[in-house]
Amino acid sequence: NMHSATRPVKTTCPYCGVGCGVLATPTPQGGLTIAGDPDHPANFGRLCVKGQALGETLGLQGRLLSPQIAGRNVGWDQALQTVADRFADTIARHGPDSVAFYVSGQLLTEDYYVANKLMKGFVGSANIDTNSRLCMASSVAGHRRAFGSDTVPGLYEDLEQADCVVLVGSNLAWCHPVLYQRLAAARQARGTRVVVIDPRRTATCDIADLHLPISGAGDAAIFNLLLAELDRRGLIPADAPVDGLPEALRAARATSADGLGIPDPELQRFFDLWCDNPRVVTVYSQGVNQSDCGTDKVGAILNCHLATGRIGRPGMGPFSVTGQPNAMGGREVGGLANMLACHLDIENPAHRDAVGAFWKAPNMACEPGLKAVQMFDAVEQGKIKALWIICTNPAMSMPDADRVARAIRGCDFVVVSDIMARTDTTELADVLLPATGWGEKDGTVTNSERRISRQRRSLAPAGQARDDWRILAEVGRRMGWQQAFNWSHPAQVFAEYAALSGIAGKLGSDFDISDCAGIDPAEYEAMQPFSWPRAGARQGGRFFGDGIYHRPNGRAQMVAVTPQAAPVQDFRLNTGRVRDHWHSMTRTGLSPRLSRHLAEPYLEIHPDDAARLGLTAAGLAEVATPQGRAVLRVMISDRVGRGRPFAPMHWTGQVAPTGRVNALVPPVVDPISGQPASKSAPVTIRPF
Ligand code: SF4
Repeated sequence: NMHSATRPVKTTCPYCGVGCGVLATPTPQGGLTIAGDPDHPANFGRLCVKGQALGETLGLQGRLLSPQIAGRNVGWDQALQTVADRFADTIARHGPDSVAFYVSGQLLTEDYYVANKLMKGFVGSANIDTNSRLCMASSVAGHRRAFGSDTVPGLYEDLEQADCVVLVGSNLAWCHPVLYQRLAAARQARGTRVVVIDPRRTATCDIADLHLPISGAGDAAIFNLLLAELDRRGLIPADAPVDGLPEALRAARATSADGLGIPDPELQRFFDLWCDNPRVVTVYSQGVNQSDCGTDKVGAILNCHLATGRIGRPGMGPFSVTGQPNAMGGREVGGLANMLACHLDIENPAHRDAVGAFWKAPNMACEPGLKAVQMFDAVEQGKIKALWIICTNPAMSMPDADRVARAIRGCDFVVVSDIMARTDTTELADVLLPATGWGEKDGTVTNSERRISRQRRSLAPAGQARDDWRILAEVGRRMGWQQAFNWSHPAQVFAEYAALSGIAGKLGSDFDISDCAGIDPAEYEAMQPFSWPRAGARQGGRFFGDGIYHRPNGRAQMVAVTPQAAPVQDFRLNTGRVRDHWHSMTRTGLSPRLSRHLAEPYLEIHPDDAARLGLTAAGLAEVATPQGRAVLRVMISDRVGRGRPFAPMHWTGQVAPTGRVNALVPPVVDPISGQPASKSAPVTIRPF
C-alpha cells in the first residue's frame, strides 16, 4: 500500500462529470473503503450508488497484468520498443497522418497532455481524437460559436440558486445523480420549478413540475419558439451584447409548433416559467448533443440565455453537463482533433506557433486532425496504418460498432492500452499495454463546473500496469524525443501544462492556471479542488455575467436555427445509460449490487407498439438496422413514446445473445461538431 492503513486518501470518483470527491481508506486486506468527501465542493459528502460501490470493483479479476504482443506476454522493454519502432516506421514511410491516437474522457489531464504533445507537436499530425467526441463535442462547438471559446459559464450552485431549472435531453437522476440530489434538495427547500424536456418520462421527471415529451427533433424548435416568445413579451433588451439577433429571431418566428407533440397549454406553461423567472438554468446533455443537428440545438438554447443576459450570474445560465470524469479536462488540454491545449485554436497560426515554440516541437501539426467517425473511416480505408487506442473501447462504443471492429481488425498495427484483458477492442490488438486504473494513479480531472480535482493513488498497480502518461512518454523518448518527454512525476507534467496556459493566457485564452507552473510534488499532493479562472475579477466564479464574451468584438454570436422536420420513420431508437452501470461495465459489472437494478440489455417500448409488433413482456426482440442487429429483452412501458423505443448502451458483444446497441447506430454526425447522432437510429423491430 502507498499509504499507511486507515488514513483516508482524498480522491475523485472515476465515473460521471459531476466529479464527486471520494475518501478512499485502504483496508488491511488490500482494498479500499469508500465514503463521500464532505469537504469536496461538488458533492459535500454525497455519493451515488456507482461511487459507493467503487470498493467492490478493485479486484484483479479480468485485469490486464502484463504487456502482450500477438497474445503472448512480453516484457515492457520489448512492447514499448515495438510500439515506438512501428509508429516511427509507419510515419517515415507514409507520413504523419498515417497514424492516429484514439483516447478517452476517462484519461487524467496529465495523460491527455502527454498524448497530445506527442501527436500534435512531435509526430506532426492532429490525428488524436477522444471518445468525448461522442459525448459533448456539440456543446464545445456551440460554446465556441456563441462565446468565442469553449467556456462553461456557470457553477453547480446555480442549480441551487435558480428559481426555475429546465433539463433538456438530460436524465440527471440517473446520469448525474449527485447533481440531481443537490437540485432535489434545493427544490425541497425553496420550491424551485423544474421542467424536463425529454421524449422519455425518465426518473428525473419525479421532481418535474412539467414534463414536455417532445419528438426527437423538437429541442431546437421549442427553444426557437421560446426566443420568439421572449421577444413578444419584451424581455430582450435592445442593447443586448449580441450579434445575429435579427437573424435568430427571424428563424425563431418562422418555427412551427406543429409536430412537437406538445399541447399548446403546456407549451405556454413552459414559456411562462422561463419568462417569469429571471433566475433560470437550462441544463442539457446527450439528448441535445448526440444529434445530427446537435450544435444547432445547443445554439437554440444558448440564444435564449444570450438574448436575455441570463448567463453567468447567480442562478442563471445554460449548463452543459458532461458524461465522463475528465471530459472537461480533455477539452482544456486540447484533447479533441480540432483544438490545441489551453483553449488555443489549431487553425490559428499564432496559436500554433506559440505552442510549437513552447514545446520546442520539431513537427507541429498545422491543421485539424480526423474526428472520431472520420478517423475510423480512415482506418477502414487503410489510410491510418498504425492506431493506438487508449482507455476506451471503440469496437463497442462507436456508432456502426461492427464496422468499426472490422476496420480495427484490418488495420496494419493496433496498440491498445487498457486496464482490462478482454474487451471488444483488446481482442483486436497487436500489442496490449496494461494501464493503471482508478486508485492506482495520480493526476487531475476537471468536472462539469470547471473544477480541477486530484485523483490520488492509494493502491499498488495491478501486475505490471503503468500509468498512461508514463507509457506515452516512454514511447516518445524511444522515438527520439528524450528531452521533451523527460518527466518522472505527474506534478512535472501538470506544471508544464500550467506554464503553457500562461502563454495561452497572453494570447487571450481564458484558461490560464499559470500560477501552478511552479508546483512541486509536495504541493501537487496537497492540491485542493479549485475552479478556474485562478485570478482576476472572475476568480473561481462565472463567465459572461459582465456581458463581455471572448469573440474579438467582445459580443456573443447568436445563430439562426432552422429546426429539422420531425422524423417520418416508424421507429427511432433512443440509446443511453442506466442508473447503476457505467459505459461498457468493465468496472461496474464487477459489483453484484450494481447489477440488481437492471441486469441485462433491454428494449423499452410503448405498449401500443409492442401489441402491434407482437412483442410480449420479458420476451425477446430483434432490433435491426442496415448497420447491425441486437437481441434485447422486451420491457413494455409508457415511459417511452410511440415509435420511440429506448435501449441502454452498456452491454458488449461478450453477452449473449447480443446487447451491442451501438452496432445499430448509423455513423451519422453533426456537420459542425462531428458528434454522432446516437439517439435516433431508424430501426426495424420483430419478435425473436
Ligand atoms: Fe461518481 Fe457521478 Fe455518482 Fe458522483 S454522481 S459518485 S461522480 S458517478
